[in-house]
Amino acid sequence: MTERIVFVVGAGAAGLAAAWAAARHGATVRLVDSGSGVSALVGGAADHRPWEEIARAVALRGQTPLAGELPAGVADFAADLDLWSLPLAEEPLLRLATEAGRLRTARGADSALLDWTQIPAGGRVILPRAIRSEWDAGSLARSLREDTYVRSRGLKLEVVDAKLFKLQGEERIAPADLALRHDEPQRLAWLEMRLGQLVAEAGASDAILLGPWLGVRSPVASVLSKNLGLVVGEVLSGVGGAAGLRFEFARERMLAKLGIELQLACVEAVEPVEDGYALSIEGRQPPEIADAVVLAIGGVAAGGVVYCAPETRAGRDAPDRGSRAFKLSLDAPVDLRAHGKRLDVTSSIHGPRMDDCAWPIDADPGLLEAVGVDCDPTGRVLPGLYAAGDAVGDAPRTVLEAVASGIRAAAAACLTEID
Ligand SMILES: Cc1cc2nc3c(=O)[nH]c(=O)nc-3n(C[C@H](O)[C@H](O)[C@H](O)COP(=O)(O)OP(=O)(O)OC[C@H]3O[C@@H](n4cnc5c(N)ncnc54)[C@H](O)[C@@H]3O)c2cc1C
Repeated sequence: MTERIVFVVGAGAAGLAAAWAAARHGATVRLVDSGSGVSALVGGAADHRPWEEIARAVALRGQTPLAGELPAGVADFAADLDLWSLPLAEEPLLRLATEAGRLRTARGADSALLDWTQIPAGGRVILPRAIRSEWDAGSLARSLREDTYVRSRGLKLEVVDAKLFKLQGEERIAPADLALRHDEPQRLAWLEMRLGQLVAEAGASDAILLGPWLGVRSPVASVLSKNLGLVVGEVLSGVGGAAGLRFEFARERMLAKLGIELQLACVEAVEPVEDGYALSIEGRQPPEIADAVVLAIGGVAAGGVVYCAPETRAGRDAPDRGSRAFKLSLDAPVDLRAHGKRLDVTSSIHGPRMDDCAWPIDADPGLLEAVGVDCDPTGRVLPGLYAAGDAVGDAPRTVLEAVASGIRAAAAACLTEID
């Protein structure tokens, strides 16, 4: 029997998980990606259900938030990726500090982040005062001191003067670039020495909270924690921080182990042909043929789903015709849905009333977040054609849901015969 060829379009969390799962099912995997998506932009939390949903449920029940079971394959994938800390089912959820000075729960996180559940009750946390645009230790400490969890655990937060940047200009370079420098052993030893001095001057401490600066290729946070004998970790970072780059390096390592090449290109069309699907790839001829395709192209934020209301085509006059307000970044025989409804041609040439529907209202995601491919729960659109991750209409926009759906789609893609 010849191996199935599974084509995965998009190499974010969903596409990587689909490629990993398809390889485990014995398929020949082709993986194509047109550039960084949101998995390479996020701050380091790996949620399954949106964390605000969990926070509301916990507040309502007044219980300690415990980790639920993860969908099939997610823990194995995470173990192979070797990037995230994921508590087992029934263990407490992680607690992470946001840049805005709030502690929030998370199902998992990049291992470089400080998990506040690791700090003993009454423990002392140091926040070094350092000048960087993403780091204001004073205001962070003030906000965090008011946090319910910090208060209930009696944690003491102290801001301490520090010199943590070695070279001129380092207070201005991108956080991910600063983090990269700490992968270098001598520079890491220098940081360890500085943090050691800091603790010696500040007195007995249990944890150090830092900005998103702790390496991207190597486990800098765990080396510092071990050598200094206290928990060292980062705050959640904003878009473009070190966590996204860590995902990209972890992806590179995983793909190398699996023997899968990541091709950088844009897929322009996926078309059913007699023996599977033909994929037209920008600048390449002829189209590639696959038995099955997983569309893991992300949502609106990644450019996998594109806003294209009729008025976007209008010149000086009205647009020539009505049309749907969204399309995919590639041509494919799929419909889109949002909020449980298949998207149709909009009645207005201006498209949907974005002022009313684009953004979330209470717990309901807005149209820009909800819109995606209309498919069944395995991600199946047609025999052999699947969607995963943020590309799926109405799916929760979280890292672990993206992983779970990539694994589901790949499993189905490897087992389904084309009709
Ligand atoms: C600002 C922000 C903060 C977030 N915070 C959190 C959080 O705290 N916790 C959490 O769990 N989740 C968070 N998320 C959501 C989470 O990051 C996503 O749900 C998840 O990363 C989606 O992964 P994905 O693989 O589906 O999409 P992506 O990572 O976006 O990957 C899609 C890939 O497809 C590629 N692509 C698109 N079109 C084509 C094409 N035609 N040809 C080839 N390639 C193509 C893109 O270049 C991209 O690389 C956040 C998202 C955002 C935007």
